[in-house]
Amino acid sequence: MSWRDTTCGALRAGDAGRRVTLAGWADTRRDLGGLVFVDLRDYSGKVQLVIHPESAPEAAATAHEVRNEFVLQAEGEVVLRDPATVNPNIATGEVEIKVDTLRIVSRSTPLPFQLDEENVDETIRLRYRWLDLRTERMQRNLRLSHTIIAAIRRRMDELGFVDLWTPSMTKGTPEGARDFLVPVRLQPGRFFALAQSPQLFKQLSQIGGLDRYYQIATCWRDEDLRADRQFEFRQLDVEMSFVEREDVLDVLEQAVVAAFEALGREAPPRPFTRMSWHEADLRYGSDKPDLRFGLEIQDATEVTRGSQFGVFANAASVRFLVAPRAFSRAELARLEELAKEWGAKGLAYLVHDESGEVRSPIAKFLSEQELAAFASEPGTTVLFAAGDPAAVSRVLGGLRTHLGRELELADTTRNEFLWILDFPLFELDEETGRWTFVHHPFTGVEPGQEHLVETDPGACISQAYDLVWNGVELGSGSIRIHDQELQRAVFRSMGMGEEEARAKFGFLLEALEMGAPPHGGFAMGIERFVMLMAGEPDIRQILAFPKVASGSDPLTGAPTPYPAAALKELGIQSIVPSDQA
Ligand code: ASP
Repeated sequence: MSWRDTTCGALRAGDAGRRVTLAGWADTRRDLGGLVFVDLRDYSGKVQLVIHPESAPEAAATAHEVRNEFVLQAEGEVVLRDPATVNPNIATGEVEIKVDTLRIVSRSTPLPFQLDEENVDETIRLRYRWLDLRTERMQRNLRLSHTIIAAIRRRMDELGFVDLWTPSMTKGTPEGARDFLVPVRLQPGRFFALAQSPQLFKQLSQIGGLDRYYQIATCWRDEDLRADRQFEFRQLDVEMSFVEREDVLDVLEQAVVAAFEALGREAPPRPFTRMSWHEADLRYGSDKPDLRFGLEIQDATEVTRGSQFGVFANAASVRFLVAPRAFSRAELARLEELAKEWGAKGLAYLVHDESGEVRSPIAKFLSEQELAAFASEPGTTVLFAAGDPAAVSRVLGGLRTHLGRELELADTTRNEFLWILDFPLFELDEETGRWTFVHHPFTGVEPGQEHLVETDPGACISQAYDLVWNGVELGSGSIRIHDQELQRAVFRSMGMGEEEARAKFGFLLEALEMGAPPHGGFAMGIERFVMLMAGEPDIRQILAFPKVASGSDPLTGAPTPYPAAALKELGIQSIVPSDQA
């Protein structure tokens, strides 16, 4: 006996007259006293079973017992439905199965929620994820994820990349997050870190002559969970030898396009837009601008130099954006609150109301020339930020993103892929007052600027690049340092002495001393990419078994405390009282 000879979603009018065996879940059951209808569902779709008590009394008796989500096997004939009962909403809606043999293969207890129920609490959905996975949404998302990953793998293979597995248990890799630690029974008191990324292994693979590495790599980072962040996630991780920046960008663009094509969607035109970090910062106040709408930031530093309005006159930078709406006082108060959260002292504005009148507490301080520079259409508001350039960018960039969302400015029919190039190499860590890396410490510096790494770190432009899709950062990469002297200089300018550098990255420095080819690479977050492709608001909807915001897994109950004896074997003693763990 085979469980089935066709699938539920496959049957069409042309199959009428065929005898079939089907297996699947009872999606719904309608018991009309005598006649019973069951919608049978499997991964491929649904089909209606009809069980007539006169012609199939045994099957009818079984059908009365059926409840939602029972697993059934049914045999019968495919028949055309009466035209009045054709269901245009399902692919098999023109037919039904006149069942003569029905078997309950597996029963279900009453369900904690119905599969088609809306607004089910997410923790409940995750607690019973095996049920939730049966929903159309999850089936669609997980299959979409598979199609995307399979297409990317195919393209990487065609391009000559070697799929290389790298260890998860390793030494801390600096990607700017905390490590997850793994204790080691054979060496109590010592720990592996779960790789935040395969960064150093993939660089070593190039020093090892692999030439083109890729991996759909799992990465672990101990950070707070967010809509687009889990403790563990996957990256399309790439590294290549003897390449320039454009070679790496080209590969990533091809991988992205392959995914669009595999889904039968219109691929974004290549090459993707390229923009320097500096330009993105000035025009959009962001290193991941959403280009589906304008609302560009404009500069007013020059025109406000001699302003009667002291806040403008004394600021290193004065910039503004013109929102397409004459905001009310209450709306402006709310925007000011937000601006303050992003570090502004206040929010200066000029409202050009519908009649063309200007409403603004600062208008009286502004000269004719200034007012002319801020002239705008009726029904708009000019919003200003003044201060040091970085703060001004943060405030206006924040406002731009916020207003883009609130006023629904983005043209959602567009897909805007964007490369951000030429990031600074270092930034000042406000806590320690030291220079620290913007991407990671293995990022190359713009050729010709090597001498600035230690003398003027803030002036160094890196060879890093980020990929942005509709305002979401998909990933980043860089041309790496392949010169051990330069690598040491970068460590030094971050305040890392020779000894510390040896202890942390001795193996890399040694490898760089033994014939390292120029190399560069990239990593793109798979879940974020799939989430955007699926049009889902968070990555939990495209993962089979995600964790909730607190960092736990409602399904298994992990993480759980471990008995003291097990910890002892690992050389660990918990200081958390057992009733609090
Ligand atoms: N390892 C980096 C990351 O995970 C990406 C790269 O530089 O290739 O973000």
